[in-house]
Amino acid sequence: MKYYSLNHNAPKVSFEEAVIQGLATDKGLYFPESITPLKADFFVNIENLSNAEIAFEAIKQFVGDEIPAETLKQIIAETLCFDFPTVKVEKDIYALELYHGPTMAFKDVGARFMSRCLAYFNKDQKDSKNTVLVATSGDTGGAVASGFLGVQGVEVIILYPSGKVSDIQERQLTTLGQNIKALEVDGVFDDCQDMVKKAFLDESLKHKKLTSANSINIARWLPQMFYFFFAYKQLKSQNKPLVFSCPSGNFGNICAGIMAKKLGLPIEHFVASTNVNDTVPRFLEKGNYDPKPSKATISNAMDVGNPSNFIRIQEMYNNDLEQFKKDFSSFSYTDAETLEAMQSIYKKDGYIAEPHGAVGYLGLKKELKNHANAIGIFLETAHPIKFLDVVEPALHLKLPIPTQIESVLHKEKVSVKIKTYEDLKVFLG
Ligand SMILES: *Cc1c(COP(=O)(O)O)cnc(C)c1O
Repeated sequence: MKYYSLNHNAPKVSFEEAVIQGLATDKGLYFPESITPLKADFFVNIENLSNAEIAFEAIKQFVGDEIPAETLKQIIAETLCFDFPTVKVEKDIYALELYHGPTMAFKDVGARFMSRCLAYFNKDQKDSKNTVLVATSGDTGGAVASGFLGVQGVEVIILYPSGKVSDIQERQLTTLGQNIKALEVDGVFDDCQDMVKKAFLDESLKHKKLTSANSINIARWLPQMFYFFFAYKQLKSQNKPLVFSCPSGNFGNICAGIMAKKLGLPIEHFVASTNVNDTVPRFLEKGNYDPKPSKATISNAMDVGNPSNFIRIQEMYNNDLEQFKKDFSSFSYTDAETLEAMQSIYKKDGYIAEPHGAVGYLGLKKELKNHANAIGIFLETAHPIKFLDVVEPALHLKLPIPTQIESVLHKEKVSVKIKTYEDLKVFLG
């Protein structure tokens, strides 16, 4: 499979090159040259297939012959080492829980898949390393650290804002050791992000073979389509149209859902639910795309002012706004509305949603008014424990610590403090 740049000013590349480069040389996101729907009998038989078999069918055309089928199956098996249950919350409303992985965030899937692809492509290059550089506001860093731990030929450097991530998140980034290094930046998330962007453009760092592990990387983005298939498999027997609501920040998840639909998965409608960082809801309402600097909220993994994957979504709809609006809605919610939703879901349904899931729930409820006979599914993108500072006081409860989290709480934090871009360069060497 070849990939082209959405800025249309860079050569087409293979899957391998796209994974290693992350972003095209013209700074565009990569997009697959063709998308071939899966055969109808795949969907007829889906409940007889394992998650790994479903994932293999869904992704194989995007990898092509660049990874042998047996190796790709192995990569998928290691990626999907946990469950993706749909949990009934109310009549015709389900939470698709994506948080049962090693760091209890949905980003585990993309991080585990991407790291193993990189390891495969590096297998013969014993002394030349790739360096994965990633800025995190919390959740991405932990998933990337865990997903890449011990992967041969790849060094991972995570930049996080000092004092601005939760204790659990910080431990997930700073206690693993081996090929994972944490840089504690004296600043905010945007400072971390700026340093990473600068490093990618810095000619003097060419020898480091830098790549990103954000959802701009196709190997992190594409595997996210798997969970829409898994939800379909679980709910298919009810024979109702499906509406998915994704709590959205960089719009990687929902964009992967739209890809699943392009492959033939019968999804009636998508809702991109956002916090007050509402660039896309405003675009759908007013028709002009006007990104704003991000604002801090309690659903902080979605504090994104200019969602990087939105351009991929527009590509899938050939920039046809009217067609796009038939399949897609987007609504934004304040922190106060989010807290109220968490409380009402808990009181009414006994379900503990964290802030991102609650935003997803709100968007879903609104859209379902237009789909009388449908089943609605909101993605629960993180375990409530990851946001315990918000969840515990809002719901007046104490959450038990899951074993995945328990295991990092006793480990010692190791980080290097930096202030400026020059400090980063010195560290990279
Ligand atoms: C990253 C993240 C999101 C946003 O996902 P996108 O694919 O960037 O839209 C939502 N919730 C949580 C908990 C996340 O970590």
